[in-house]
Amino acid sequence: MGRPVSGALGPAAEAERSRVRELATRLVRPRATEIDRDDRLPPEVIRELAEEGYFALGLPAEFGGKPVSTRTFSAVLEELSAASAAVAVTLAVHLSVCALPIADRGTPAQRERWLPALARGERIGAFALTEPGAGSDTASLRSRYERTADGYVLHGSKTFISNAASAGLVLVFATRDPARKSKGVSAFLVPGPTPGFSVVRRFEKLGLRGSETTELLFDGVRLPPDGLLGSEGEGLHVALGALTGGRIGIASCALGVARAAFEELLAAVRRDDADWKRAALARAYAELASARALVDGAADRKDAGLPFEREASVAKLVASRAAMSIASAGVDVAGPAGVRGGAPAGRLLRDARVFPIVEGTSEIQELILGRSLLDAPPSQTA
Ligand SMILES: Cc1cc2nc3c(=O)[nH]c(=O)nc-3n(C[C@H](O)[C@H](O)[C@H](O)COP(=O)(O)OP(=O)(O)OC[C@H]3O[C@@H](n4cnc5c(N)ncnc54)[C@H](O)[C@@H]3O)c2cc1C
Repeated sequence: MGRPVSGALGPAAEAERSRVRELATRLVRPRATEIDRDDRLPPEVIRELAEEGYFALGLPAEFGGKPVSTRTFSAVLEELSAASAAVAVTLAVHLSVCALPIADRGTPAQRERWLPALARGERIGAFALTEPGAGSDTASLRSRYERTADGYVLHGSKTFISNAASAGLVLVFATRDPARKSKGVSAFLVPGPTPGFSVVRRFEKLGLRGSETTELLFDGVRLPPDGLLGSEGEGLHVALGALTGGRIGIASCALGVARAAFEELLAAVRRDDADWKRAALARAYAELASARALVDGAADRKDAGLPFEREASVAKLVASRAAMSIASAGVDVAGPAGVRGGAPAGRLLRDARVFPIVEGTSEIQELILGRSLLDAPPSQTA
C-alpha cells in the first residue's frame, strides 16, 4: 500500500527520509520493546544518531549544524517515531525547544558556545517551563530570578521536564516578579552540572518510556550575564515561539506512531480478515491520511515563511487523536494478544496517549484554534 502523501517531498528530502528509515529500521525498531521495558535509551542509539548528524538537524551550518526544511525535519521525526516514539521525542525536544531557540535568539557568543556541542549530541537540550502549579497557565510560574552584580541567581522547581537528567543544557524560564505575570518572565541557559541545579526524581510513565521525564530543583543557581537568552521580560515570547514550532515536531512524532499503528493493523487484518476489521482499517487509513496532510501543510507553511500557528495546533490536535484512535483499533483487532506485555499494539497505544499532553494539551490547542478563528477575517477561516 502506498504512503498517503499530501504534497511531494523534494528529491533531497526523499533521500533523507530513505536514509533515516534505513537507520530507524536497523538501529531503533529492534530495540523498541527494550526501550519501553527498561525505560531507558540505549547509549549506542544516541551515539549513532549523533554520528549521523541527527542532533544537528535544522541548526546553522557554521556551528556544525545541518540545515534542512521543516518538511524534512518532520519526515525524520516521523520515521524515528514509527520505530520508537521515545527516541523521536528526545530528538524533537533537543532541537525544537532548546537548540533552535538558541540558534534563533542567541547572541553570537551564545551560539558559538552552545550550538556546536548540541549539534554533536555531546549536550542534550531540554526545556523547563512547567511547574507544579503552572502548566497550561504559563504566566503563573513561580520560579524566581534575581539580578546580581555578576549575573543572575535562580530559585525554583520544574516538573515533567524531558531530557534534563542527561544534564546537557536546560532552557529554564523564571520570573523576577510573579505579579508582573507574563511580562516578568525571562529565559536562562543552565548547563549541567551547575552548583544548585539538581534532578530531584525521575517519573515512571504510561507511555513514551525511555524519554526521560524529571522534576528539577534550582536552588540558588548562579549564572553569568550571558546566561540570559534574549532580553529580560521576553521569556514567555521565547517559550511560546519555541512551542509553536515544536508542535509541528510533536505532531510529526504522533504521526509516526499513527503510521506504525496503521502498519500493525494492516498486517493483522491481512492475517485474519473480517468485514469489521476491514472497516477499522479503512477508518484508520482516513485518519492517517488526514493527519499527514495537516502535518505536511503546517510544515510547508513554516518553510514558506507564512504564519503557521493555527496549522501547527490543528496538526498536533489531529495527529495526536489519529495516533490514539488507530492504536486503539490495533488493540481491538489484535484482541488479547494486543495487551500482553511487550506487544507492539499495546506500546503504541500507551505512547499515543501521551501526545495530547506534551507541548500544549489538546484543550489548549483548541483554545489557540478558537481564538485564531474568531480573530481572523471571515475569508481566512475556512
Ligand atoms: C511526557 C511528558 C513530557 C513533558 N515534557 C515537558 C518538557 O520537556 N518541558 C516542559 O516545560 N513541560 C513538559 N511537560 C509538561 C506538559 O507540557 C504539561 O503537563 C502540560 O502543559 C499541561 O500542564 P499541567 O500538567 O500543569 O496541567 P494543567 O495545565 O493543570 O491541565 C490539566 C488539564 O486541564 C486542562 N486545562 C487546563 N487549562 C485549561 C483551559 N484554560 N481550558 C480548558 N482546559 C484546560 C488541560 O488541557 C489538562 O487536560 C511534559 C509532560 C509530559 C506528560
